[in-house]
Amino acid sequence: MKRVVLLGPPGAGKGTQATGIAEKYNIPHISTGDIFRANVKEGTPLGKKAKEYMDQGLLVPDELVCDLVEDRIMQEDCANGYLLDGFPRTLFQAEHFDNFLKSKGQELDSVVDIEVSEDVLLPRLTGRRVCRNCGRPYHVITMPPKVEGVCDVCGGEVYQRADDSEETVLNRFKVYNEQTSPLIEYYTASGKLAPINGEQSQAEVFDEICAKLGD
Ligand code: ADP
Ligand code: ADP
Ligand code: ZN
Repeated sequence: MKRVVLLGPPGAGKGTQATGIAEKYNIPHISTGDIFRANVKEGTPLGKKAKEYMDQGLLVPDELVCDLVEDRIMQEDCANGYLLDGFPRTLFQAEHFDNFLKSKGQELDSVVDIEVSEDVLLPRLTGRRVCRNCGRPYHVITMPPKVEGVCDVCGGEVYQRADDSEETVLNRFKVYNEQTSPLIEYYTASGKLAPINGEQSQAEVFDEICAKLGD
């Protein structure tokens, strides 16, 4: 049983680490960014609302996020735990989620906070490419797919997210600093924060996360 949140600024490596963690602990990887992008692609009412915010690098309003995640973790595949990637992202979401967990008699095990400085994040994000189908992240220089434009895992199209332009990335840093970084103190206070040095190789980051999460 592992109930884990992945925290960290845009580009910290949350999506990159998520696959290995989900596999190791046999829990589903739930990425709110991936869920919103799937809704945008399908043109659902949620997708239409979310898109306006995502395109500008702003957060989607809390009321569109909380129920979505809380319904998701009540599904059967989460009986053994879950890995949340990109949620919570505001103090409101964190408090709402804590109240929800309490009402279900659940508790988070750990909040893994991947720490990376902005000067390292910027080139990671502007060079990022992602699979349109499964969401797996790549990088044009440091982690290109084996065949250009094709996902190694699922064969989906590897593309550049519109919000990974330099201008929008700088906006997302600002949003992170103002709205998400207060969660570090919030989860430190509840004794759940596991800080990780994200400026290491992908494998080293993974090992540090596993060491903190235990068996
Ligand atoms: P990143 O790779 O930068 O961490 P994500 O893929 O997690 O980005 O999120 C992309 C966008 O989706 C965010 O900029 C935001 O607009 C929206 N989003 C994702 N998760 C949340 C959330 N928990 N609350 C509000 N907006 C969110
Ligand atoms: P997040 O989900 O936190 O926004 P990603 O996992 O999508 O971040 O990673 C952002 C970019 O940085 C991707 O292009 C990815 O290939 C690259 N990346 C991830 N981890 C590392 C690492 N440890 N060292 C160098 N580049 C990395
Ligand atoms: Zn894929």
